[in-house]
Amino acid sequence: MSNYKNFIEQIIEEDLNNGFKRNELCFRFPPEPNGYLHIGHVKAIALNFELGKKYNAPVNLRFDDTNPVKENSHFVEEIKKNIKWLGYKWSKVCYASDYFGQLYEWAQYLILNDKAFVDSQTSEQIALQKGTPTNPGVNSPYRNRPREESIRLFTEMREGKHKEGSHVLRAKIKMSSQNMLMRDPVMYRILFKDHHRTGSNWCIYPMYDWAHGESDFIEKISHSLCTLEFKPHRDLYEWFLQQLPKENKNLPKQREFARLNMTYTIMSKRKLFHLIDKKIVSSWDDPRMPTISGMIKRGYPPNALINFVKKAGVAKRENTIDASLLEFYVREELNKICPRVMVVTNEIKLVITNYPEGKQEKVEAINNPEDESQGTREMVFSKYLYIEREDFRETANRKFFRLTIGKEVRLKNAYIIKGEKCVKNKNGEVIEVQCTYDPKSKSGSNSEESKRKVKGTIHWVDIKSSAKVIINEYERLFLNEKPEENEDLIKCINTSSKKTIVGKSEKYVSSLKKGQKVQFQRKGYYIVDNKKNGNITFNKTVSLRDGWRK
Ligand code: ATP
Ligand code: MG
Repeated sequence: MSNYKNFIEQIIEEDLNNGFKRNELCFRFPPEPNGYLHIGHVKAIALNFELGKKYNAPVNLRFDDTNPVKENSHFVEEIKKNIKWLGYKWSKVCYASDYFGQLYEWAQYLILNDKAFVDSQTSEQIALQKGTPTNPGVNSPYRNRPREESIRLFTEMREGKHKEGSHVLRAKIKMSSQNMLMRDPVMYRILFKDHHRTGSNWCIYPMYDWAHGESDFIEKISHSLCTLEFKPHRDLYEWFLQQLPKENKNLPKQREFARLNMTYTIMSKRKLFHLIDKKIVSSWDDPRMPTISGMIKRGYPPNALINFVKKAGVAKRENTIDASLLEFYVREELNKICPRVMVVTNEIKLVITNYPEGKQEKVEAINNPEDESQGTREMVFSKYLYIEREDFRETANRKFFRLTIGKEVRLKNAYIIKGEKCVKNKNGEVIEVQCTYDPKSKSGSNSEESKRKVKGTIHWVDIKSSAKVIINEYERLFLNEKPEENEDLIKCINTSSKKTIVGKSEKYVSSLKKGQKVQFQRKGYYIVDNKKNGNITFNKTVSLRDGWRK
């Protein structure tokens, strides 16, 4: 491990040097369960959980579930699964909704201390009084309403006696504050909507900004880490905490870091939902989505995501990381773990004219040259094979190292063959290639001929024993490097980002199970998406090489 410390770690070290107790360090990851987690969240997850490991401190998973209109328990469960999949363990699961009672009591306390009031204007009126960054806002006509009246109305709001939109509770701070968030922000609104955890217990719900800082405080979070856009919220969180009756003198220390942005990708959950809504992708876990669940379906391994966000680093300035870097880490991980198999996707028939009719033999194939422990498997070899159409040319220049008439190539794991002639249909398309083989050149045998060097090696599949495979191939979902900068997101969509093709594969793939990952030799990495009615479908994870680099 290097001694390098990111700026958050430097802050923590400084706090420890200044007497902050090590055993009082506590972190959290606070998602709002209103969608799936994406690669940006992985950065916040890794940051907090790695700090927990480094300082041997607890890390809570806290759901900031204050908006029952957009949140649900399916999202909660999916988020938990995703964090486990990444390999992180939380100390406890907490919910802002568990604090609704405490928050309600504190809100009453603020009213009684003249720090909050019930406003009976419409949300439009309130918005009009908000002012602009350069112009102060205007006080609500209800701002000086007697606190007894506010308490009565707030109680009635909680009891369900008022309509949605008829009243809100607002903090009484300062309408002329430079920070617009301090201009008497709304703390509660009336919502007759069941909550996935509290059911119909409540018909008023706290605003995120009111619940978030107090939740950190209740959980004794020592360092409350969030993204830069929350910087102006810090004043508000601190103001709320200063008003409350409390014994604990350690207030959560909020520090902000830059969001992770990635090229050819959008991160906002709202915009991701838009893609689902417009049926551009099938769902949150579509393999083209930048969500963790989408990446799982695509075949990305957890370490690739973690290595990627670690490499992106923790900084205070916004930047955009190249999507190719994530793909690099995906390849690096998969190269180590994936067995190799041979699959032909655009086939042409190859006949070995001097090979005995009806004979079948076994050849041995190494599963993973990077990992001997993965052993070997047997492949069936015979007179009739498939090869890739693009691996044959009737005539070719010196730079073409694959099969041509009169030249030799090796069939991977098998024999050296020589192109003899090709058969064409009446349109002049090649439909069959005929070749001869050198019977002494079998790979792995100890003959001189087996060690003979030829310029090219190609892959192949025995026709009779082959299995049909369905392959979903994916390209980037967006054509623009920075789609979020475009006004109309839909215009940036790569309309051919998904293509389904059929391939022929060596028999071995039939034994693979859902979720297993393999390398199709010379092609890329693939994951078994499903197996249904004897059909096996793969999702393409990534090509072997970065086809996007110029
Ligand atoms: P989005 O804007 O994408 O919808 P969000 O910030 O509203 O995301 P939350 O569920 O509130 O989503 O986020 C949980 C935590 O993850 C927050 O602390 C937030 O700062 C952090 N986070 C969200 N997006 C990113 C990102 N792109 N990079 C780093 N951290 C992020
Ligand atoms: Mg949010």
